[in-house]
Amino acid sequence: MNVQTSPEVLIIGGGPAGATAAAILAEHGHEVLVLEREKFPRYHIGESLIPFTYHPLERLGLIPRLRASAFQKKYSVVFVQPDGRASQPFYFFTRYDRDTVAQTWQVLRSEFDLMLLNHARERGAAVCEQTTVTDLLREDGRVVGVRARHADGSIAEYRAPLTLDCSGKDSFAAVRQGWRVRDPYLNKVAVWTYYEGSKRETGLDEGQTTVAFVPEKGWFWHIPLHGDRVSVGVVAEGKYLTRGGVKDPRAIFEREIHQNLWIRDHLATGRQVGPYYVTSEYTHHARYCYAPGLLLVGDAFCFLDPVFSSGLMLALKSGVLAGDTVHEALVARDFSPERFAAYGTTMRQGIENMRKLVYAFYNPTFSFKAVIDKYPEAAGDITDCLSGDVNKDLSGLWAKIREFVPLPEELPLGGPMESVLPEPVPA
Ligand SMILES: Cc1cc2nc3c(=O)[nH]c(=O)nc-3n(C[C@H](O)[C@H](O)[C@H](O)COP(=O)(O)OP(=O)(O)OC[C@H]3O[C@@H](n4cnc5c(N)ncnc54)[C@H](O)[C@@H]3O)c2cc1C
Repeated sequence: MNVQTSPEVLIIGGGPAGATAAAILAEHGHEVLVLEREKFPRYHIGESLIPFTYHPLERLGLIPRLRASAFQKKYSVVFVQPDGRASQPFYFFTRYDRDTVAQTWQVLRSEFDLMLLNHARERGAAVCEQTTVTDLLREDGRVVGVRARHADGSIAEYRAPLTLDCSGKDSFAAVRQGWRVRDPYLNKVAVWTYYEGSKRETGLDEGQTTVAFVPEKGWFWHIPLHGDRVSVGVVAEGKYLTRGGVKDPRAIFEREIHQNLWIRDHLATGRQVGPYYVTSEYTHHARYCYAPGLLLVGDAFCFLDPVFSSGLMLALKSGVLAGDTVHEALVARDFSPERFAAYGTTMRQGIENMRKLVYAFYNPTFSFKAVIDKYPEAAGDITDCLSGDVNKDLSGLWAKIREFVPLPEELPLGGPMESVLPEPVPA
């Protein structure tokens, strides 16, 4: 066993949450080590940014790099009925500043995530790729580091006063601690793939996200990327997608194309490329955001159904907030749970607001139009929430929407754990 020198902060996972937290901490002057399982660039799903991702990207200093990048610019979202009727595009600049928040991007994640991780390196973070964290090290009820396996099979232990779990949807720590809480209603399945040479809109609309409905509250995403590539996926209940015993992802996908005329028309001239992907683990929460020595960030803290493309905004935002919170704790040499309470509260407020909108969306009787027809003043709050401006009091909006459909109560989750960390449950 190899015991390595100790940084001030260890980060499990170099995805958007881990790379963001690493960059912020390195900028504050701390020694940070990111342990990442893969070799970047690596594939990842989750390609559409929403307008309020602007602020964490700005904090990272990455807006000029994004502007100079090849990433497809995104100005709008459009909703399409199964018979092909499209809503008017909703242009973000009708509500937000044209030069900042109102223009965002559709990103190829292999390139976007590499940009973020390289940025963390440029700021001074050390990154060790092809290194899989296998265990949390504990002493006296605290997490004091991790055990990891390198590509050559060697095992090393890394120690630090604080470890950030940024392992994404795998939720490394929450699974091992028995902290993972499913969201029983949001248990969808997604099947997706890529097309080249398919039909695209032009001008300002070229980069628009299209949400195209299929029956039974299922929906397609259609996300145009640069290089004439489009990401297309269908999301619905598993029993709907596999009806008639169809299990093969390609067969599921090809059948659903015919459930929406707009999707069928747009893909007709294109060529499907690469594999078909499937995921079924849709939405889970961690019971705690912190236990002594351990902080959860990004999807590792909460993975929310991505119908409104909120994942990267939440991952980057939590990375910035975690970086600043950990910096203050390191300066004060105080790692008591209370220090991390505000982090958990802020992140849960945003998640709960977005979660309510996701619940409403999946209710078969719900439509945004019906709410706005009755309460035109609700349009602004709906737009803000959909755009990622989620840390605000939206109780007035929820009261209005509750007249149409039930909304979930907030989950009493996400605070810091006060007591010592118990032994892990079997994964
Ligand atoms: C079908 C689908 C569609 C989506 N669409 C969108 C979208 O349009 N827009 C959007 O914003 N979001 C979308 N998302 C969500 C988005 O992908 C995530 O929110 C985002 O990737 C979270 O970033 P993260 O850094 O927390 O996790 P990740 O990006 O998953 O990064 C985690 C990193 O940790 C590494 N890792 C994991 N375990 C270990 C370990 N034990 N040791 C070392 N390293 C480890 C992984 O290799 C990975 O690089 C979608 C998700 C899904 C499933």
